[in-house]
Formats: sequence, C-alpha cells, structure tokens
Amino acid sequence: MDQLEIGDVRIGRVVEFSGPVGLTTEGFFPGSDPGVWQENRDWLAPRFVTAADDQVQTAVQTWVVRSEGRTILVDTGLGNGKERPYVPVWSHYDSDYLADLAALGVAPGDVDLVVNTHLHLDHVGWNTRLEGREWVPTFPNAQYLVHRADFDFWNPEGDATPGFGRGNQNAFEDSVAPVQAAGQLQLWDGERHRIDGSLVLELAAGHTPGSAVVTLDSKGESAVFAADLLHSPLQVSHPELASCFCEDPAAARTSRDRLLSHAADRGALILPAHFRAEGAARIGRKDDAFTITEWAAFA
Ligand SMILES: [Zn+2]
Repeated sequence: MDQLEIGDVRIGRVVEFSGPVGLTTEGFFPGSDPGVWQENRDWLAPRFVTAADDQVQTAVQTWVVRSEGRTILVDTGLGNGKERPYVPVWSHYDSDYLADLAALGVAPGDVDLVVNTHLHLDHVGWNTRLEGREWVPTFPNAQYLVHRADFDFWNPEGDATPGFGRGNQNAFEDSVAPVQAAGQLQLWDGERHRIDGSLVLELAAGHTPGSAVVTLDSKGESAVFAADLLHSPLQVSHPELASCFCEDPAAARTSRDRLLSHAADRGALILPAHFRAEGAARIGRKDDAFTITEWAAFA
C-alpha cells in the first residue's frame, strides 16, 4: 500500500533518498549514550542504522497530502542539480522525483500548496527547478508557506549566523528567493496557521527558529507531520537525543516532548521527514516513556 487515509485526508509520499549520510550515531547525535544505541540495535539495524559500522540511515521524502480537494506537499526534498559544496552526498543530486510524483497522479501544475516545515536544504530543494540558467518555481500554481522566523534567519541579507550555515550554503538563494521573486511565497507568523478544516501548521521551534509541524485531525483520526523534531525512531523513547543539526537543541527537546505528548494523547500517527522504511508510526505511552505502538502501512 502506498497511500494512507486519515479521516477524509489521503497521504502518499515520494522518497527521494534513502541510505546513510556519512554520520555515525555518535556524530549525528553528539554526546548520546552509546549504551542506549547498543540496547536498541536489534530493531534499529539495518533499517535505521547500518549493521556494519553504526551509521545513521535516513530518508528524504515529501508527503503528498490530498485534503478538501487540494493537493499539498509537505517539504520538497533535495531537488536536482543543486550546488551543495558542503554536503557532497546531496550536491548535484539527480533523482526521478517528478516522475515519482506523477506516479501518484500529481503533475507540477496540480500542486496547490507547498509547506516548507523549515528552510534546510533537504526540505526546499524541489521548490525550484532549473530552466535555462534560472531557478524557477517547480509548482507554478502553488502558494508556498514558510514561517517568517525561518525566512529571516536564513536570509543572507539578515544578520543571523546559523550554526548550520555552511551546510545550508546556496539553499536560500536557489530554492527560496526565486519563489519570493515569483510572488508565490506566503510568510506566516505566530504560533499557528490554519491550512484548512483538517490541517494546521504549528510552530515547533528549536531545530530552526521557524520550524513547524503540521497537525491533521479528521473524523476522529489524527496524524502529525513531525518534520525534523525526530530523525531516528529511538528519539521516541529517548527524546533527550538531539541531532547535530539543531540550532537550539534545548528548545528542540521541548518541542519534541510537546509533539510526542500530543501524538500519544490522540494515538496519532507521526510522519517525520526522515524515517526510512514504513516512514510513519503510531505513538503511545508505556510506563513513563513514549513508545511506538504500530508502524504505518507504508512499505
Ligand atoms: Zn531535514
């Protein structure tokens, strides 16, 4: 099964990348207890860490959401042909993303709304494509939603100095600025932004200042597009694990705890940006900890 239904909302996905990105568990989650990884190795390997050398395995994927007659993309992955001098594994990347999107019945002109949960390079790539020498919006009829705090933080004309600055080299210029120039960028402010009757963007700062999640509630069923609050399923039972890509790890932890409580209270499915394999999981509580009660039917 490659699509899920949550109430009246249908969810598909395009997986653009799946594999190790050259970081061990210690490198990806600095200061984490090696014993915790060891204890969970039997279920983490090989889907989420490599069996041979303890590298984190990750996916880059777009959630394709059909809600109230509209087609909505949550994050747009890496993009093709982008110059990423400090991230060699994803520089000049070349995938069949648009063909995979077409296989879900979505042509670029069909997309009504793009949500960038934040402005890291692996969430904005397909915002644009190369036409001649120009980066132009890939989705000509879409509005693109970005939190103002992230726009200001990553804008090279601003005065912020992101910790992940080099890693994100060029991403604003080639994947965000052209959308603004085309008049398709919509900045949102504050804590919440309602998308429609089922979907709400909620600020979940920490990973970046304007990081957001998308909550879905329809006909008594719930899900949350959790973006980069979780990079490994081990963070469900160990939310203290923080990725090296978080601008403010303490704030990210607070946002992660809030997300997990929200999901556990509702028995909600979480759909993080980077889980491989099934890609999504249902969250509950066991003793004093959060736990995965069920993996989604994506395969
Ligand atoms: Zn990411």
